[in-house]
Amino acid sequence: MSSTVFDGIGLLYTADPIREEIEDAALVVEDGVVRWIGRSADVPAADERVDAEGRAVIPGFVDSHSHLVFAGDRTAEFAARMAGERYSAGGIRTTVAATREATVPQLAATTALLVIEMTAQGTTTFEIKSGYGLTVESERRCLEIAGQFTPETTYLGAHVVPPETTPDDYVRMVTGPMLDACAPHARWVDVFCERGAFDEDQSREILAAGIKAGLRARIHANQLGEGPGVRVACEMGAASADHCTHLTDADVAALADAGVVATLLPGAEFSTRSPYPDARRLLDAGVTVALATDCNPGSSFTTSMPFCVALAVREMRMTPLEAVRAATRGGARALLRNDVGTLREGAQADLVMLDAPSYVHLAYRPGVPLVAQVWRSGRRVV
Ligand SMILES: [Zn+2]
Repeated sequence: MSSTVFDGIGLLYTADPIREEIEDAALVVEDGVVRWIGRSADVPAADERVDAEGRAVIPGFVDSHSHLVFAGDRTAEFAARMAGERYSAGGIRTTVAATREATVPQLAATTALLVIEMTAQGTTTFEIKSGYGLTVESERRCLEIAGQFTPETTYLGAHVVPPETTPDDYVRMVTGPMLDACAPHARWVDVFCERGAFDEDQSREILAAGIKAGLRARIHANQLGEGPGVRVACEMGAASADHCTHLTDADVAALADAGVVATLLPGAEFSTRSPYPDARRLLDAGVTVALATDCNPGSSFTTSMPFCVALAVREMRMTPLEAVRAATRGGARALLRNDVGTLREGAQADLVMLDAPSYVHLAYRPGVPLVAQVWRSGRRVV
């Protein structure tokens, strides 16, 4: 494979703590991997050249939390909520009914369209969860579909208790036959630890069973109110606690001590008209913060990481630098990946060229399509 030099980069944001920003930068890519990073003036020769013409380049976004495999639509529920109704975990069941009805080709086609949307907005690595099937076979096939698009697949059989069974019977299924069917298709196990979904003991049992089956743990925690989710994440060695909207001081300290990433999902607060998590409080305590879309049809139907960056800056007390860092390196940390999310020598050549002189414009110019080019493993995909 030939080498390509990207030069004329006005501002390169690498997300690499060693040299996080380089002005007048260049970067050489070979065999899908970054081989050289530095100043444009010093760039070595390469076979091909891409001139950024002064634009900014950042790593491809890492969206570490999405629910892309589903059928159906919840437009009416959203409209009702905007007219004053409250969000509760129960709305998930609407999507479950539609997803069970859908065929595999239908589900795969919907997922593919959302992946195209994500890619067009600069996302090059993403996670996909199951969780809208809630039967052994339906969860298995959702994960099989997810696996066609990403290696970061998450078994979320424990999304909500389906109406046809009891909580005890369902937890037995999630930790038994459903896990056996799903574990070969998943890298991660997740649980919606929340009032109206799964309680502390159930969450521990579900994560422990997944870990025993060879999966790594992540969790939906503390979205709708304070609760045990973050504590469970820290005690069970989860890679990430996701949502983290309602935290006690003890939760914040536990995340910092355990090195568990706090993944914030501001699209959910936006779409449920809820108070946003306070990222500043987490950052000041030394917690690693990630940003992700939580793309799902009920509570956050966006695939846009730039939108999440803008929300994080405006609503969660993050600086533009912190928000872009959380959307790249933070997401990679949440997925325990060190080959993506940063641009440094040896990393996967996933990069986004912005129609802007700086990454700051992602928050400064909200809603504007600034993603000009996207390269994944050194190949142009947008
Ligand atoms: Zn979620």
